[in-house]
Amino acid sequence: MTATITPISGSESASIDAPELPAELERRFAAPTYAPLPVTLVSGEGAWVVDEDGRSYLDMLSGYSALNFGHRHPALVAAAHQQLDKLTLTSRAFHTDQLGPFCAELSQLCQLDGVVPMNTGAEAVETAIKAARRWGYLVKGVPADRARIVVADGGFHGRTTTIVGFSTDPVSRDHFGPYGPGFDVVPFGDLAATEAAFADDTVAILVEPIQGEAGVVIPPDGYLPGLRRLCDRMGVLLILDEVQSGLGRTGRTFACDHAGVRPDAFVLGKALGGGILPVSAFVARADIIGCFTPGSHGSTFGGGPLACAVGRAVLTLLAPGDLQRRATGLGQVLHGRLSALVGHGATAVRVRGLWAGVDLDPRGPVARTACELLLTHGVLAKDAHGHTLRLAPPLVIDEADLHRACDAIESVVHGLAG
Ligand SMILES: *Cc1c(COP(=O)(O)O)cnc(C)c1O
Repeated sequence: MTATITPISGSESASIDAPELPAELERRFAAPTYAPLPVTLVSGEGAWVVDEDGRSYLDMLSGYSALNFGHRHPALVAAAHQQLDKLTLTSRAFHTDQLGPFCAELSQLCQLDGVVPMNTGAEAVETAIKAARRWGYLVKGVPADRARIVVADGGFHGRTTTIVGFSTDPVSRDHFGPYGPGFDVVPFGDLAATEAAFADDTVAILVEPIQGEAGVVIPPDGYLPGLRRLCDRMGVLLILDEVQSGLGRTGRTFACDHAGVRPDAFVLGKALGGGILPVSAFVARADIIGCFTPGSHGSTFGGGPLACAVGRAVLTLLAPGDLQRRATGLGQVLHGRLSALVGHGATAVRVRGLWAGVDLDPRGPVARTACELLLTHGVLAKDAHGHTLRLAPPLVIDEADLHRACDAIESVVHGLAG
């Protein structure tokens, strides 16, 4: 293919008149906010993807859990096609036949009362922050502009300026200030520190029940029930960011189901869009949702008919619980295979359902090196921080394929140790 492209800026060339590899064009023209592995994907089905040279790979990342149902799940693609042929977008200036049912079905799945439909996870987190502050002023009676929100060290909630302002990861936070006030950071999993951080003006605690980007970090038993009791006693909202942990990933519909805890609000995203388009939501109790009024919040695309049709198909897939049970069963297989790596190249593994963090021996190469080696074995995975390998296969993966991926992981991790 011959491309004639004018660069956005830069003096090195005004145009290109030469065949260029897509990955090379990406390197030159896409901002360097990612460091992709050297593979160019062109198609996918289920747990498998294919590169431009026809090589197949098992996808053990699943778009950071956006692809919980695998690539192009037939029921999701069919729902999208059907809606594409009817109505795709209207704006919220009008009702559609999709938004009401989507919000009702999602509220029911969450056992909560109402939904603010958005697009990306970060937007749903921003919605949670706005909702918590409004609730603080209108319901709890916090003095104007004094509301505080407690968050956890090492958490990840997205990339907006407000959100990176309370991030403790210097890579995503540095040089984007000035940062917004009103957040208190406490150690993840530490109930005593959380209680100490709760003040009269605290309106909410916003946490992941399991920290995904941090490397699938599971808090101590009793943490979520403890937060629930603390929030009830102090009149503080418990808002769980289940953008990555939710919708089947951990073997339950929500990660907090393992602890038998119901939050006051959920932040959802990623898998809610079925791997097809961005669909996110803030789902909450009636007294929180009721703090919004016409014009106080919104989104041009959020809650559009195509997004809602795909979201409803996702909820239909989750309703019977089969995928959650599958994640539990295959999660036991994954746990067994990964546990055998401890002492043989890995120092610790954390597994919940089909979600795992593998800490590689810090004396060996970083996890990025392991991912580059896994690529040559036909397995796609992603490092979290430094020496942690993060795994999240699609919930639809075959047991034989899961073993195949584990064989490759075992060989790479053992190889690094040797
Ligand atoms: C990915 C993620 C987000 C942000 O979602 P985007 O769609 O990338 O904006 C927020 N919270 C958690 C826990 C996430 O994993």
